[in-house]
Amino acid sequence: STPAAIAAALSAGARHGLLVKGGAVLETLGTIKHAALDKTGTLTEGKPRVTDLVAVGRSERQVLSMAAALESGSNHPLALAILTRAKAETVPVPPAADVTALPGEGVSGTLGGETLFLGSARAAAARVTLSVELSGRVEQFEQEGKTVAVLLAGETVVGLIAMRDEPRPDARAGLRALEAAGIAPVMLTGDNPRTAAAIAADLGIAVHGGLMPEDKQRIVRELQSNGGAVAKVGDGINDAPALAAADVGIAMGGGTDVALETADAAVLHGRVMDVARLVALSRAATANIR
Ligand code: ADP
Ligand code: MG
Repeated sequence: STPAAIAAALSAGARHGLLVKGGAVLETLGTIKHAALDKTGTLTEGKPRVTDLVAVGRSERQVLSMAAALESGSNHPLALAILTRAKAETVPVPPAADVTALPGEGVSGTLGGETLFLGSARAAAARVTLSVELSGRVEQFEQEGKTVAVLLAGETVVGLIAMRDEPRPDARAGLRALEAAGIAPVMLTGDNPRTAAAIAADLGIAVHGGLMPEDKQRIVRELQSNGGAVAKVGDGINDAPALAAADVGIAMGGGTDVALETADAAVLHGRVMDVARLVALSRAATANIR
């Protein structure tokens, strides 16, 4: 290979916010056959907004306050949605103790002598039995393309918080550009299958929903065994194993510190189209070599 062509491509990419960790990664980028893209923060804005709040045996303000207390140290997109709403409604955010992030599930902690859990309906259902009525509300929100966080106090459901996250403006065009380059895109998400299917249908992309972080890693390996290099594109929140397993791990929008450590490349402007641009950059540099 000619180091000059590679170096020129790396610096040209960097000028456009396309960071690639070295020539070997750049060459692999041109050979990818599958792109596994995270939903939240990658195909969507990653800025969900609270749309509906259901309080059970407590006030709506209490539910929001308890949820915000659990999320106050988190940078998960759903956490930011809840904290933004809490601020807008000027509810107090008391300090919770023993706050623990549970990747792919939610967050737990203690507040005022109560053990709290806030997370996906599936994770909540694994801890307590949801009533038929509450399950119905959850299902209805999900069919509207919303993600629902369930708040538990001990063994009791005390609230539902529904949030909606819109697709990035260039997501459809970016996916079509990948397909035009001979790359099959697929959406991987920890979000529930109903919400995921609603957004995937909107974008015209195959989807696997309801995944735990290790499931994302497994699907990346399955795509690899089908033949062809696999790129995994994600914001890195809970996605480090899948980013590491992929032939090329691409961090979206700068991502988290852990994503930038694990990723092979990063697209700083957070455009889906930039993934296709990375591939084009690689192919142009490789064509110069041959
Ligand atoms: P994604 O693949 O969409 O990035 P994650 O793996 O980050 O999803 O999370 C999977 C699911 O777990 C989320 O859709 C949400 O229901 C739940 N979850 C994870 N972290 C949190 C949190 N901090 N607050 C509320 N829910 C969470
Ligand atoms: Mg995530």
